Amino acid sequence: MEDCLFCNIAAGKIPSDIVYEDDRILCFRDIHPQAPVHVLVIPRVHIASVADITEENCEIVAHIFACIPEIVRILGLTEGFRIISNCGADACQSVQHLHFHILGGRQLKDHMG
Ligand code: AMP
Repeated sequence: MEDCLFCNIAAGKIPSDIVYEDDRILCFRDIHPQAPVHVLVIPRVHIASVADITEENCEIVAHIFACIPEIVRILGLTEGFRIISNCGADACQSVQHLHFHILGGRQLKDHMG
């Protein structure tokens, strides 16, 4: 989608600090990190949010999760990490392109807020 920030990052039209990429997904550092390590994993294809995952497009989600062990190895998150996907207004989703936050590098709070 032309006016989607993460589509433009995926297309290389907007620069990002890339950690991992392949033909289907991209992982880059969050511009406003909430932890010492904070990256976003996105599909290159536009899916607006978790609420838009279907039987037809869900294979990309499996691929993202299959890549996460390699991504956290690259990031050195040997002590653990958290994965979050905000969906919709109540969850404060600010970019309408499916993304999974990976947070780590410090002891994270034991609640989900
Ligand atoms: P969410 O609020 O869950 O939709 O997450 C969107 C995330 O995208 C936020 O954590 C932002 O800091 C991050 N973000 C916004 N613009 C950029 C950008 N140009 N490069 C990297 N991260 C970004």
